[in-house]
Amino acid sequence: MSFKKLLAASAAVAGLTLAVGVSGNASAAEFITIGTGGVTGVYYPTGGAICRLVNKGRKKHGVRCSVESTGGSVYNINTIRAGELDMGVAQSDWQYHAYNGTAKFKDQGPFKELRAVFSVHAEPVTIVARKDSGIKTVADLVGKRVNIGNPGSGTEATWNVMWSAMGKTNKDLKLVAQMKSAETPGALCDNKIDAFFWLVGMPNSLNKEAATTCDAVFASVTGPAVDGLVKKNPFYRYAKIPGGMYRGNPNDIPTFGVGATFVSSTKAPASTVYQVVKAVFDNFAAFKKFHPAFANLKEKEMIKDALSAPLHDGAIKYYKEKGWM
Ligand code: GLU
Repeated sequence: MSFKKLLAASAAVAGLTLAVGVSGNASAAEFITIGTGGVTGVYYPTGGAICRLVNKGRKKHGVRCSVESTGGSVYNINTIRAGELDMGVAQSDWQYHAYNGTAKFKDQGPFKELRAVFSVHAEPVTIVARKDSGIKTVADLVGKRVNIGNPGSGTEATWNVMWSAMGKTNKDLKLVAQMKSAETPGALCDNKIDAFFWLVGMPNSLNKEAATTCDAVFASVTGPAVDGLVKKNPFYRYAKIPGGMYRGNPNDIPTFGVGATFVSSTKAPASTVYQVVKAVFDNFAAFKKFHPAFANLKEKEMIKDALSAPLHDGAIKYYKEKGWM
């Protein structure tokens, strides 16, 4: 079936009128919304980059893309499941657990309609601490005031997994804060918290803000509990925060981390997901320039690394055309 016929068919199903412009370009009203994270994180610009590239070609393919700032990974997956978001960014650990109905998703059961589209940047587990707090390792968080991530974030969900693997509960903290990521460097520098925890692409503006505004330092995240998590789970890997990336932090900081992934569900039509994927990979050099966290991305790794749900049919179609599968 030709692409125009496909569009006509889907427009007919949706009860929409198909407008064919004088130039011969077809346009059917097809809107997609991508769920991201806080506006000053890396998910939000990731969604923004994808939408910019999709919207550049919208006269040709008719897909209009918009980005929504959200609570993060867990919110995005749940909202895709509810059919209220078409696509979203999510940590690889929560993609895995949602698909399999494990950990936080046990009560809901497996989300078998979840589909992977591609993976994006790595997200090291990051602890940004006040210099005067004495926090050098994750174990030093005991008795401190810590922002563990806002509700709905992958950050908070992974915090709970990690902290309980270490044999701790939130009662071991002096204060459990759940601010949005955008508020955390300010709270740290105003001495309202001793540290903030999050899983995020590097480099990013909030880490930079904390390091430059109030000489914040990064704590290591290692030990037997972390080794156990990495050994037992395919979606975790050892990672580091590179020395010299942020002011006043010259040494590599060892930690572990996940991958940021782009997901959808079987509810999204293959023709739409195909256009989204095509917009990104046909313009890959431009995509990588949208954010410094994308600098080292490689196409063939992005279509398999950190993904546990099956690939979406629309993505498979494009990857096969490229000879990547
Ligand atoms: N990994 C974080 C989460 O799911 C979001 C990071 C970001 O906004 O870039 O909650």
